[in-house]
Amino acid sequence: MERADLLRCPARVTLDAAQMAFFDGLPTEAPSVQSELGCELERGHEGSHAALGQQVEATMWWVQWTLSASEINPYTWCPGCSLFDGHSGDHSPALAGPTSPAAGD
Ligand SMILES: [Zn+2]
Ligand SMILES: [Zn+2]
Repeated sequence: MERADLLRCPARVTLDAAQMAFFDGLPTEAPSVQSELGCELERGHEGSHAALGQQVEATMWWVQWTLSASEINPYTWCPGCSLFDGHSGDHSPALAGPTSPAAGD
């Protein structure tokens, strides 16, 4: 198993028909969104889970969900990593490239 999998939140979400229709209607030539997405935040993060659904130019459409609800929201990139601006938790070390080992803990 890769290190990235150990750090990644294990939550998953299944998009409903309306959400799939929303993504299908976006003006992008990217491949269709998968109906099941995995959270891209770090394991143990606070707040809603989040998975990138689709990107249209500078706008990223993220699916965010809790145990009771899910929604799709537009974001811009986080300046520190490949997640959305304002995400909870760390700037994903697994996605941001090589980092030095955490010193003292
Ligand atoms: Zn999560
Ligand atoms: Zn970040």
